[in-house]
Amino acid sequence: MAIISCKDLTKVYKNQGQVVQAVDGISFDIEPGEIVGLLGPNGAGKTTTIKCLCRLINPTRGKILIDSRDVVRHSNFAFEKVSAVLEGNRNIYWRMSTKENLRLFAGLQGFSGKVIKEKIYELIDTFGLKEKINTEARFLSRGMQQKLAIACALIKDTDILFLDEPTLGLDVETTIEVRRLIREKISKQGKTILLSSHNMNVVEDVCSRVIIINKGKIVADEKIDRVKEFFKVNAYRFEVEGDINNKIKRDIKNKFLGVKFFDKETKTDIVIEMRDSMKIYEVLEILKCRNIKLLGIQNVEPDFEEIYLKLVKDEK
Ligand code: ADP
Repeated sequence: MAIISCKDLTKVYKNQGQVVQAVDGISFDIEPGEIVGLLGPNGAGKTTTIKCLCRLINPTRGKILIDSRDVVRHSNFAFEKVSAVLEGNRNIYWRMSTKENLRLFAGLQGFSGKVIKEKIYELIDTFGLKEKINTEARFLSRGMQQKLAIACALIKDTDILFLDEPTLGLDVETTIEVRRLIREKISKQGKTILLSSHNMNVVEDVCSRVIIINKGKIVADEKIDRVKEFFKVNAYRFEVEGDINNKIKRDIKNKFLGVKFFDKETKTDIVIEMRDSMKIYEVLEILKCRNIKLLGIQNVEPDFEEIYLKLVKDEK
């Protein structure tokens, strides 16, 4: 039986005459112990969904059941059952030390002094925060603040944990460390986790299932193995000088799958999908042979709508 169930969840923001449909009638169930990724580009509605689920904001419409209780009507139940790390590390108190923050969050749950002490030292150990135990949160690095924020959420010891973009803004090393902590430590505790990210690598690393949202709607809800393949296709944008004649366009199209040309004023963008990034060299070779001047190469972010279309096509 689902521990989280949301039906037709909708959130419309109305600010100073502006109306934004942030979440547009989404429905999904999450079973106890599942680790689910909420994946989508910036502005897709991930944070809004999580804020509605943990009842920080009121949904405009829809039903949310947590452990079979209606939390739209009884928000207190959500506060008991769920802990969340939202928008980086805003849940921690800047002027309190690592230990004081942890003590505060544990105290809110009403644990005894002895239990709090044990939990604090266990988490400090797990998250490598020992040397910063008495340092005020505002003086910690961004990565340490994020680890402390997650530790503060964990000390509540709830069955459900929401992590909103847990690696956003972290450097590569800390991102890997936080991913490892989620995968190796937190996921082993049997908690139900909903993790949002715009990055498939993060989701793929820690989740078994992924819900992809785009423009407030669910575009796919799949086991990670099935969707992973679609994200493996990398696309690169080759920016070249001037126009490209039709013969060369045809030659490139014949050599590669998924080629698109975008004619700009003084240049052309050629977007080419490739499973194997070594194919970049083949493109460079073609450009060189035809005397086409390359201005730059960029990795193109995955297009969620296209991935959805491919998934649907694949089903037929
Ligand atoms: P994501 O987390 O996927 O980046 P968000 O849930 O933050 O997406 O935002 C979804 C949409 O709602 C975006 O268009 C965003 O600009 C808008 N939005 C988010 N919060 C507010 C708010 N408080 N008021 C008005 N619009 C908002």
